[in-house]
Amino acid sequence: MIINFEKNLSPEGRAALLVLLRRKLPGARYAAAKGGLKVIGLPPQKAADAAPLIENLPGAARVTFLNAELCPLACAMSRTVLSKPLDFRRTPVFIAGPCAVEDEASYLSCARALKAAGAHALRAALFKPRSSPYAFQGLGWAGLPIIAKAKKITGLPLVTEITDTRQAARLAGVCDILQIGARNMRNYELLKEAGRSGRAVLLKRAMRATLREWLLSAEYLLKYGVKELILCERGDMLSGSGAALDFRLIREAKRLTRLPVIADPSHAAGGREAAERLALKALRSGADGLLIEAAVNPYAARVDGRQTVTAETFQKIAGRAR
Ligand code: PEP
Ligand code: MN
Repeated sequence: MIINFEKNLSPEGRAALLVLLRRKLPGARYAAAKGGLKVIGLPPQKAADAAPLIENLPGAARVTFLNAELCPLACAMSRTVLSKPLDFRRTPVFIAGPCAVEDEASYLSCARALKAAGAHALRAALFKPRSSPYAFQGLGWAGLPIIAKAKKITGLPLVTEITDTRQAARLAGVCDILQIGARNMRNYELLKEAGRSGRAVLLKRAMRATLREWLLSAEYLLKYGVKELILCERGDMLSGSGAALDFRLIREAKRLTRLPVIADPSHAAGGREAAERLALKALRSGADGLLIEAAVNPYAARVDGRQTVTAETFQKIAGRAR
């Protein structure tokens, strides 16, 4: 934690501030820092509680934190590479499937074809966060037996989006990885509940979220019990409004946390040709894998069909990446 002094603070002012700090933060140690003071030895909760009080003291302008101070769990993840439920010791790792589970026949045919094409896990979305309340919202619980069947047939782990805390236990009973979608990256009660579920979690970066906000959401998951965590960059736009993923953020997140960081080229692309290009670019740029919308017949999909690649294209991507 760095305490920045007010501009032109006199030596007497600094001394007075230090007296107040020593009173407020017993046990903390101090070191000189450019334009202020570095505070060492405060546990995260103490530091978080103290920051707004310190910013109110005469002479103090602002308190800032390093990533490692704000997100100690995310930044101290072990160097051992995640090996379950997805094995990141050999990358790239592919999670593929249609945007939403729509019916049993089409989903099972996708599951079989995508496994044969090189998928390591299946997208298995039952609850879809849609911009319009009139749009298809997903099959909901009616789809649970379908994805369970796909898992039994293929042996592949399931990745499903959780959109409500009340879904946690039942989804965790069948699915291997709970996905926190971009819209819910800042839904802190949902993060806590996903953390308590005991399942692995895939955390998407919210639209326009900074690296720090993304890491803080990861910190929630880890603090509330997640043992296996995957980060996923999905770009800043709504579907169909521009092909862009932030590769610099992927690299930074990997460097800071050592967590696996994958990319979702589908929602960033908005079209299947762009999704294919972006998928390959993401892998070349250091992503540890892909979460990609792929289906046997994307032309019939009720959701995001335009950006969904065919099983053949997915096989090509997986083959080229190897
Ligand atoms: C999804 O992957 O199904 C999805 C809804 O994506 P996002 O949360 O990134 O919009
Ligand atoms: Mn989608």
